[in-house]
Amino acid sequence: METGAMALEGRRVLVVGLARSGRAAVDVLLGRGARVAVTDRRPAAVFGGLPGKLKKAGVELALGRHPEDRFLEADLIVVSPGVPRSLAPLQAARDAGVEIVSELELAASLFDGPLIAVTGTNGKSTTTTFIGHFLRAAGRRVFMGGNLGRPFCEALEGEHDVAVVEVSSFQLEWVGGFRPKVAVLLNVTEDHLDRYRDFEDYARTKGRLFAQQDGRDFAVVNRDDPVALELAEAGRAEQYLFGHGPSPAQGMYDDGESAWLVEGDGVHRVSLEGFRLRGRHNVENLMAAYLSAHLAGISCQRLDEVIPYLEGLPHRLELVAEVEGVRYYNDSKATNVRSVLCSLRDLTEPLVVLMGGKDKGGSFANLEPIVRRNVRALVLFGEARGRIREALGHLVETIEVETLADAVARARALARSGDSVVLSPACASFDQFESYEERGEVFKQLVWERKHVGNGGMPSGGDGVSK
Ligand code: ADP
Repeated sequence: METGAMALEGRRVLVVGLARSGRAAVDVLLGRGARVAVTDRRPAAVFGGLPGKLKKAGVELALGRHPEDRFLEADLIVVSPGVPRSLAPLQAARDAGVEIVSELELAASLFDGPLIAVTGTNGKSTTTTFIGHFLRAAGRRVFMGGNLGRPFCEALEGEHDVAVVEVSSFQLEWVGGFRPKVAVLLNVTEDHLDRYRDFEDYARTKGRLFAQQDGRDFAVVNRDDPVALELAEAGRAEQYLFGHGPSPAQGMYDDGESAWLVEGDGVHRVSLEGFRLRGRHNVENLMAAYLSAHLAGISCQRLDEVIPYLEGLPHRLELVAEVEGVRYYNDSKATNVRSVLCSLRDLTEPLVVLMGGKDKGGSFANLEPIVRRNVRALVLFGEARGRIREALGHLVETIEVETLADAVARARALARSGDSVVLSPACASFDQFESYEERGEVFKQLVWERKHVGNGGMPSGGDGVSK
């Protein structure tokens, strides 16, 4: 980042949101001599001993409310990703001309080293993790985090040669000078329509990734996604495009068996034989990661050696167990319609699909072709179940239940030997769970209990391999 490290000494900085990113931001700000205040809508009681510690460190606290005067008197406001953009005092501060940045931008302005930023509707965590593996295998000291795992502000504590940061659209809401060396945009499809005015608004937010880049920077972009391509075209970075099927464009493409790196006059063949993850979408993630690591200076030979060791993450079409001839997959991270499509596309056996959760306003009807293809039954649970039934319930046998536990029990009764049962919710988890991880863990537990009761076997899955 070359925004010039943000001046913080003596400035009054308000941190909005006291979850992990907010806490990391507070530490960074205190370490750089800022006068720090924190506000969170949750009351002090939920934070245990933290408010006491912060007070001792000289932090002013406004917990249980968001007093507008605190926002207006700040010189700088740092916003955590969980905080809605529409929050009234934030808007008032913006109108009053107060500088507002996300935790991401604060960290980026202070990080001393190249930054690779990965965004997109789907595939961010997988791609970020691949890039981290590529760079680590080449001996680089890598900070990997952002929306995935550790907040970027935590990178400022250690010694790192490079940062690979997963960036959500929420973190791009408040950026001005954010300028990654390599910006990766995987795809832009419908998501979070509960937070954005419409699809254009959501897409525009993603496009901010490129806004401050110039000709010395790189944009790694999916050429098969017209929205992603259009957003990148508006930027000034040098483009490396990836996609399926031959193309002379600088970047990478695959033909199903191999991938090809195209650069200048040269073409380098990358074997996909050892790549263990299923699905075309994972080949896209691989190509995006390969290009990013290549642009960070890692040789192709090194990268080729690492490919067979790349693994899928848990909760992404993760095989949990096989019980009485039925395979159970945990795909709890499929929290929007497009990700469900990508996951189910590769499963050709008859499926019983568990869907539901907190509705994000997606178009469930887009799943119609895949449901018609090989879904035997839908078991719908949680808040969104009624809307999913309206869109898809007329196509196949559809059952509505309240909880995930009920859903697993019903799925088991519906599935026959040779089928797969897939939790691929197309919704967020927050109506009944803390996170998609918790939802996935509960699902796995329920399956393992069944397995135990069913045939006395021990848990067999959970190793994170998506195959
Ligand atoms: P994110 O971090 O963006 O949520 P993940 O890497 O965690 O993405 O993958 C979440 C789900 O999204 C996967 O289970 C899969 O169904 C789907 N997915 C992954 N990569 C892609 C991609 N490149 N394009 C479309 N869908 C994808």
